[in-house]
Amino acid sequence: MDLEEYVRARKLMVERLMAAGYLRNPRVAEALLSVPRELFVPEAYRQLAYDDRPLPIGEGQTISAPSIVARMTELLDVREGHKVLEVGTGSGYQAAVLAMLVGDAGHVWTIERIRSLAEAAEARLRSLGLLRRVTVIVGDGTLGYPPAAPFDRIIVTAAAPSIPQPLVEQLSPGGRLVIPVGSKEEQTLLVVTKEGNELRVERDLEVIFVPLIGKYGWPE
Ligand code: SAM
Repeated sequence: MDLEEYVRARKLMVERLMAAGYLRNPRVAEALLSVPRELFVPEAYRQLAYDDRPLPIGEGQTISAPSIVARMTELLDVREGHKVLEVGTGSGYQAAVLAMLVGDAGHVWTIERIRSLAEAAEARLRSLGLLRRVTVIVGDGTLGYPPAAPFDRIIVTAAAPSIPQPLVEQLSPGGRLVIPVGSKEEQTLLVVTKEGNELRVERDLEVIFVPLIGKYGWPE
């Protein structure tokens, strides 16, 4: 595929996601249209970059399917100027989409436990000029990222056995966390909103993610 074909495939992907109901917010649609997903998948899978399926990115990890990225991003409800934490950088694609939504006034911190993936993601984000809006960190994201806390939004893109307490603590009042919680085999997307001292938890799609490994996740 050449550049124009990728642009066409991207538009088609967004149209399909809208028709299927995964995508409603025009700002999220705009963000998905502006990130070249083909650059976030290994060369061997580039032709499949716009199919609605997860793809391998090395180290036994995956880039999530476009419908899941769209749905989670919608649920997160990111506004311009927000401080956002992503746990599970993977390819860096979700971080790039978030960077489009926070604008120049906001910032995205994204944490990945596998150094080689974090470095590759950072290189992609740099080549797209996005590093002024995104900081890539290597570490255990179940601990959150205290130096930049609190966050308006937190998104976890790996499967957790339960909601990690540090992430709840690092959420701003009124803040929102989107996280897949369940077994290693299947999970439910939870939308957690911090209302005063209370947490409101809403259930969304059933999903399948790779495990969140760390102190407040699954053991290694
Ligand atoms: N958001 C990614 C993207 O756009 O490509 C896809 C994420 S992939 C489904 C899940 C990632 O979470 C993997 O790269 C995995 O190594 C990472 N991960 C698992 N446990 C983690 C932890 N405790 N802290 C940080 N990253 C973790």
